[in-house]
Amino acid sequence: MAAPARIGIDLGGTKIEGVVLGADGQSLARRRVPTEQQRGYEHIVEATGRLTDELRALAPQCEAIGIGTPGAISSRTGLMKNSNTACLNGRDLPGDLRRRIGLPVIVENDANCFALAEAIDGAGRGARMVFGVILGTGVGGGLVIDGRLWSGPQHIAGEWGHHSIDPNGPECYCGQRGCVESLISGPAVEAAYRQRAGTALPMDAIVARARAGEADARAAFDAFLDRFGRALANLITILDPDVIVLGGGLSNIDELYDDGRAAASRYVFNDELRTPLRRNRHGDSAGVLGAAFLSGAS
Ligand SMILES: [Zn+2]
Repeated sequence: MAAPARIGIDLGGTKIEGVVLGADGQSLARRRVPTEQQRGYEHIVEATGRLTDELRALAPQCEAIGIGTPGAISSRTGLMKNSNTACLNGRDLPGDLRRRIGLPVIVENDANCFALAEAIDGAGRGARMVFGVILGTGVGGGLVIDGRLWSGPQHIAGEWGHHSIDPNGPECYCGQRGCVESLISGPAVEAAYRQRAGTALPMDAIVARARAGEADARAAFDAFLDRFGRALANLITILDPDVIVLGGGLSNIDELYDDGRAAASRYVFNDELRTPLRRNRHGDSAGVLGAAFLSGAS
């Protein structure tokens, strides 16, 4: 049997999940604990440390730990920024985890981990350039080239959720107007429907009503698909990736792969659109797998 080699941790807002991957990539063990972010930063570092200790007992030769989490490390200060687990922001998460765990740690954005997992061992396997799109309560992305994450000198590569496609659009928390995230995330579509119809519905109900022919839901859903296509076309025109893999809670909406794709072909700078648009293979597990692949890349 192959020796355990890699440990990945997905540090999310509600749970911390860890995996041990064998040398040939199979999952040998998984552990999960609640994040309990209301207990504060030190608690999260300690909980992550304890979970990692357990996994290291199963993979004692592991030399580095990969950690995926929302947000990014500032290349200016080395501190966490943009995390929706707010108590992590402004803290030296890599340094504190390294001191607690006693091994080098590689911290990466969770959307980048998703892209890495799908590129190495998922729907983008075998392709040279893979763009992973996260479409859910937030909108993010990650870029993998030749099996390696490309995060860029400012650690913003792949953040397609915050390019503006409508300068008159709704305000985004990032300070811009009409960001992709402020227009096609689940909460954004729900807000657009509420404004139009006067009643609040969750995204899945809006999609169901659109399919059933309700006019307000159809209008909100069509706008969603059109804007998805526009945002995707911008991405494809700039990068021309070999494969785009969709992840996140909205990636199971079938219409993205035909109507959304057709919208992208209207806006892309080409007379055809050949870029494969694929469903993810790993679902919710992509983040923790990608984190483990980070540790293998060191
Ligand atoms: Zn924004």
